[in-house]
Amino acid sequence: MRVLVTGGAGYVGSVSVEALVAAGHDVLVLDDLSKGHRDALPGGVRFVQGSYGDPAVVGQLLANTPVDAVLHCAARSLVAESVSNPALYYRENVAGGVAFLEVLREAGVRRLVFSSTAAVYGTPASVPIREDAVLAPINPYGETKRTFEGALRWYAAAYGLRSVSLRYFNVAGASGRNGEVHAPETHLIPNVLAAAEGRAALTVFGIDYPTPDGTCIRDYLHVEDLARAHVLALEATSPGDPRTAGDGGPVGRTAPSDRTAADSRAAALAINLGNGGGFSVREVLSAAETVVGRPIPHAIGERRAGDPPVLVADAGRADEILGWRAQHRDIVEIVASAWAWRQAHPDGYRA
Ligand code: UDP
Repeated sequence: MRVLVTGGAGYVGSVSVEALVAAGHDVLVLDDLSKGHRDALPGGVRFVQGSYGDPAVVGQLLANTPVDAVLHCAARSLVAESVSNPALYYRENVAGGVAFLEVLREAGVRRLVFSSTAAVYGTPASVPIREDAVLAPINPYGETKRTFEGALRWYAAAYGLRSVSLRYFNVAGASGRNGEVHAPETHLIPNVLAAAEGRAALTVFGIDYPTPDGTCIRDYLHVEDLARAHVLALEATSPGDPRTAGDGGPVGRTAPSDRTAADSRAAALAINLGNGGGFSVREVLSAAETVVGRPIPHAIGERRAGDPPVLVADAGRADEILGWRAQHRDIVEIVASAWAWRQAHPDGYRA
């Protein structure tokens, strides 16, 4: 199939492009390069620089190159920025996202996979988190992702848009070709490795959480596992696939949020992607010390606002519906892949 990947020059998008190409699909990338890197794209992949929220750009692109399905990875995704500038998040993730859906609808594109997030759950009442947990985001980033998921459900019912929202937990690691470079960098594993390189000071945000070692536990997921799930999710949106048909339930355990109306013309699924286990900040640090072969200097700091003690996915639904399970579950292996990429790209991407 021919797939349009928005944000295909970013971290998750670029590794997903690699997976789609490896699976034999024809890929077209749309990215405004505000965060992404031209060098992250393999040779031979068609690229258009522009925004998914610009109907003229998307309309022209689809007129020139019709696509079968869309992988919508592009979005604003910094939690702290979303709190200080919610207007940006609503304008781009929600208004821009719906403008994008409208152009897809006009062009007759009825298959979409969406990069969603565990942030839609907010602070969960219990863990591991299932897809039918209450959605109660605690920041505009999570709220805008939840809002877009809601649009997908109503578009399924009214217009027959088949979709899968993939709720990522903590994406980490690297493929051989692509890795994580954000500016500013807020995520734990790149920050730990930058400290190992002597490039930045590392602070552990809080050691008084109600967890076995006092530090927060998160569900780290290898980006290559994540990318594989995107390919499977896109396949599940095929015309005629019962998993995203509107007349029955999706295979396996269902989440009530999948359905808006009994006569939905298509289904909008929501599926967690996680490792199925969690690692504490101290365990990540210790794994990184094993990988780099030396102690990593760090300070102990205050808790970071808005960090729940434990966020771990129940990833059973991904297995039931997509036949997907994380394969790289060892935190040392995940960190080692990130370290290898950094060693090979000490200055990040050239462009
Ligand atoms: N964390 C930390 N120091 C850092 C960055 C993160 O102690 O420099 C902690 C953070 O408080 C959280 C965990 O590491 O408990 C994962 O944070 P990250 O920002 O990577 O992902 P999040 O779970 O917030 O999406």
